Amino acid sequence: MAAQTLQLRPLGNTGLNLSSVGFGASPLGKVFGDVSEQDAFAAVREAFRLGVNFFDTSPFYGGTLSEKVLGKALKALGAPRDKYIVSTKCGRYKEGFDFSAERVTKSIDESLERLQLDYVDILQCHDIEFGSLDQIVNETLPALQKLKQAGKIRFIGITGLPLGIFTYVLDRVPPGTVDVILSYCHYSINDSTLEDLLPYLKSKGVGVISASPLAMGLLTEAGAPEWHPASSELKAACRAAVDHCKGKGKNISKLALQYSLANTDISSVLVGMKSVKEVEENIAAALELATTGTDEETLSEITDILKPVKNQSWPSGIQQS
Ligand code: NAD
Repeated sequence: MAAQTLQLRPLGNTGLNLSSVGFGASPLGKVFGDVSEQDAFAAVREAFRLGVNFFDTSPFYGGTLSEKVLGKALKALGAPRDKYIVSTKCGRYKEGFDFSAERVTKSIDESLERLQLDYVDILQCHDIEFGSLDQIVNETLPALQKLKQAGKIRFIGITGLPLGIFTYVLDRVPPGTVDVILSYCHYSINDSTLEDLLPYLKSKGVGVISASPLAMGLLTEAGAPEWHPASSELKAACRAAVDHCKGKGKNISKLALQYSLANTDISSVLVGMKSVKEVEENIAAALELATTGTDEETLSEITDILKPVKNQSWPSGIQQS
């Protein structure tokens, strides 16, 4: 029997069930090129119509633009508030990083105003490797607990690139302090290092969101944006994989998304989307995975092309004391 709707997956101990494909709203902040408000609204509406219930943004994306556009688009849905799950972030801004209790406490009020919401479902400390991890443990997370008690946020998360940040923090806070982690660029065809951490996160009851299945554009025909931090070697290998697929009449982005979605210990795969076309392609990819499975032959060919750069990442953050 064919699956007609997107799968919902539990998020750790939160009781939330997220759509397997989540809507990454950083492109709404024009991070990946220009997007009209009309296209952004249509993309959000189509995603919701097709079963996406999870939308992720940050005050950092487009210097608050992503939050503003997402807020308007969600409002325009006219849907009951409990039908969609919104996550935003704190601590990273156009002006720089600030994980102080004072800043993150002010930040949520600003985000709620831009999003036109009374609460967000998840508030995440954004890219914590750029701050002091001890400050996150001792100051930022306690401030977020207060926001939880005040009803401004339902759950707390941490995000960042190096996987060691998650164990550092989770080993130092009482169970239930951090409800969710968001990892990016570590569960795609070229880098699957998040996999090793999944049993640990499960043992802690922490929900897992994996972002950037298309490696922030590396695994797309349009290619990576200029600011992409990958080495030229990694970029070239991904370009070769893209060209190989194209030569066979295959779409690398579909394969890449399906690769990430195949691991059901990941609650939601957040993919950045800026058009109805991308939304429809990505939902179709998820439904196809659930019914006919993925194209194993092409996946194996791409895996071979990417072997020399497998699990290659890039530096992110400051030296921790
Ligand atoms: P991604 O790997 O999802 O790639 C996004 C790019 O791929 C965009 O240019 C998008 O327009 C394009 N794209 C989407 N679907 C496509 C399709 N079917 N065909 C061709 N191109 C397609 O990278 P991302 O947007 O950086 O990550 C997803 C989301 O995860 C972000 O929007 C953000 O919400 C979240 N994220 C969070 C963090 C963090 O907290 N530190 C880091 C990275 C991403």
